[in-house]
Amino acid sequence: MSRKPVVGVLALQGDVREHLATLPGLGAEAVTVRRPEELAGVDALVVPGGESTTMAKLAARSGLLGPLRDAVAGGLPVYGSCAGMVMLADRLLDAPADQVTVGGLDVTVRRNAFGRQVDSFESQVEVDGVAGGPVHAVFIRAPWVEQAGEGVQVLGRVVGGSADGRIVAVRQGNLVATSFHPELTGDRRVHALFVDIVRRHLAEQAGVDAGNERGTS
Ligand code: GLN
Repeated sequence: MSRKPVVGVLALQGDVREHLATLPGLGAEAVTVRRPEELAGVDALVVPGGESTTMAKLAARSGLLGPLRDAVAGGLPVYGSCAGMVMLADRLLDAPADQVTVGGLDVTVRRNAFGRQVDSFESQVEVDGVAGGPVHAVFIRAPWVEQAGEGVQVLGRVVGGSADGRIVAVRQGNLVATSFHPELTGDRRVHALFVDIVRRHLAEQAGVDAGNERGTS
């Protein structure tokens, strides 16, 4: 028996509404997360695009940073887009020295990597695990992954232009991150990939719980 996954959207700052609108069509229940109690009630989390310096400060101030780190360490599936990718990175470049992250993704992420003149641009990106042709990727003062650790799967790179070959989509276990904003384009395929990871995780958890119960009864 599978139940509807409850996916939280971290609602401290950023394009929360767009993610909330994208998830229900994929069979997930979408709820906002602002407090540790709300985080405890979700099966997965989306960290939206926005401004990672502000988001990080608000997370620390609201007492969410520690619980977020614990949740990631405990295997909670998390998808971060743009500023969300910054929040998931273990290491940052071009960030204020005191900028904290949730971490968990063994990557070095460069903030505002595409250059200050180019505030935003759009490109077609093939994403591993997303069928049906390239994703139309919208980049807004976007980061890229400058270096990815051994356990990190590169899902997508920019093709062509001055950013040719730059890594813009990654996965490590239950963590997924993109430099771009699929929530702004109406293309739900990246979210679908994430919800699929969430469903598998829930099914595994259910299996483990059932096993434990059999073991103790
Ligand atoms: N430049 C922003 C940051 O580092 C990210 C921009 C975005 O999410 N669109 O937080």
